[in-house]
Parts: sequence; C-alpha cells; structure tokens
Amino acid sequence: MTASPYIGRFAPSPTGPLHFGSLVAALASYLDARHQNGTWLVRMEDIDPPREQPGAAGKILKALEVYGLHWDGETLYQSRRSSLYEDAIEQLRRQLAIYPCTCSRKQLQPYHGIYPGLCRNASSNDKDLPDTPYAWRLNSHDEVIKFDDRIQGLQCFDMKTLGDFIVKRKEKLYAYQLAVCVDDEFQKITHIVRGHDLIDSTPRQISLQSALGMNRITYAHIPVIVQDNGDKLSKQNLAPELPLDEPRPLLVKALQALGQEPPKGLEDESKADIINWGVENWNLNQIAKSSSLLESEL
Ligand code: GLU
Ligand code: ZN
Repeated sequence: MTASPYIGRFAPSPTGPLHFGSLVAALASYLDARHQNGTWLVRMEDIDPPREQPGAAGKILKALEVYGLHWDGETLYQSRRSSLYEDAIEQLRRQLAIYPCTCSRKQLQPYHGIYPGLCRNASSNDKDLPDTPYAWRLNSHDEVIKFDDRIQGLQCFDMKTLGDFIVKRKEKLYAYQLAVCVDDEFQKITHIVRGHDLIDSTPRQISLQSALGMNRITYAHIPVIVQDNGDKLSKQNLAPELPLDEPRPLLVKALQALGQEPPKGLEDESKADIINWGVENWNLNQIAKSSSLLESEL
C-alpha cells in the first residue's frame, strides 16, 4: 500500500480530562484520517500553564487508548518547543509582520475583545522597543480571508472584525495561534478536523501561515455538542469525564453525533469492530452543517 498524503491530528489542551464533546472531535479527525489511509497524530497543547490541570495530559492519552483511537508516532508536547516558537516570532519581526503592543486590558475594555490597532505603527526595532511589558500582535492589514470548509462550505472573514491578534503575550507565553501554525507545519499536517468553536481561529491561522510562508491546510469544522442552555460541553461547566470502563456506548453515540448511521446492535460488538465500522463507512457529507448540536437531542 502506498502511503497516503493525508496527515491529520488531534490537539487537545490539557485543561481537564476528555468529555463527550472532545470524544466527538477526536473521533471525527481519527475517522477522516483513517478512512483515507492517512496518518493520525496527537499533539498536547500544553503552553498555557495557568489553564492546565495537573495530570490531565496523561488522562487524555489514556482515554484515547481506552476508546481505541490509536495514534501514530510520538505525542508532540508544545511545552518543549518554545525555541521554535521564538524563531517564528523572530522571523515575523524581521518581516515587520508583527508589532509590540503595550495596551492594558483596561484600555481595551471598550472594544469588546476586538483589538482596534492602537499600536499598529509602533516600531519593532530593538532600540525602540517599549520598556514596559508588551505583547506582539500580527498586523492583519484588515485583509479578507476566505477558505472552503469541507463541512460548513465557503467561509469569508474580514480580519477587521477579528482585530490584530496576539502571537506572544505580555507574560512571555506564546499564543495558541502561533504554536498551532508552527506545529501544524512541522508535523506536515494536511487536514484539520476540529470543533466549530475554532472556526474563527482558522482565518487567523491562515494569515499567520501566509506571513510565515507555510503550506496551506484543508479544514473541516464539526458542530460542537452543547447543553440545553447553549453552553459547550467543557470542563468549566462540569461535563462528565469519559467513563473508562465501557467505551462502546459512547463511541456509538459519538458516531451518531457525527451523522453516521451505525447499524442496530453495533454497540454490542467489540470496540475494534465499532471503530472499524466507523472507518469503513465514514461519510463526512453526513455531518450536520451547523455550529452546534444539542446533546439532549442525540
Ligand atoms: N488545543 C485546542 C483546544 O483544545 C485545539 C487546537 C486545534 O485543534 O487546532 O481547544
Ligand atoms: Zn496596543
């Protein structure tokens, strides 16, 4: 068998153990990769220590194993890759693609999270750098970014409405947007399948990829699973941790959440048979073209 050019990944942040919503996302990227004979990688996005929970990374990997989602190669840990993120910052700085921003949270409060470009003209020369703490922001040039999402269809984002975003924070932590682009390029990712909550990260990542001369990636954003009040299942709203004693019912429920139509009684088969059914019968076109799905209606 010749190797497929498909390389996908699941990239959890270790802020807590996996719950049903994260299982759906992991399963979608796994099945999409395996259906195309592709490689499937796992990357631990542990670059934001204040948000992380001790032991969560290990629990996530354990849950993936228990649910039969076996990944290729070694897990990549972002916490070990700071020097590569710094190289990317240096490159962006040389290209004048980023600028130092000294704005305080209080100053930005009136703009509701959309950075109005106040520091856009600040110099990024060593000798002119501010002596107070500053963040680095990408100058988006108010570009319009388009991409064709395999599930949600053609997407068009005006960067002006998203604002220039941070690539390195005042506290010297590298931003998710930067680390994701550096690592997707490093791991030669060709396809990303992830939750719709990240769809407005995609235009940001595309603008970074083009600033850094990186390869383009094909995207698919699946609906996120929400509770009746519209909140995404998450650790913050105490979505239950995936049970590790019996993965089969939730694997079948996750297939259903992805619009696949598993035959009656599939959950009585082995875990491997459930996954194999999913790989063989995977049809991305059956996934709901929406931003969210109510868990209570699955
Ligand atoms: N680490 C991110 C998260 O858990 C997801 C990254 C990605 O899939 O691009 O929300
Ligand atoms: Zn600023």
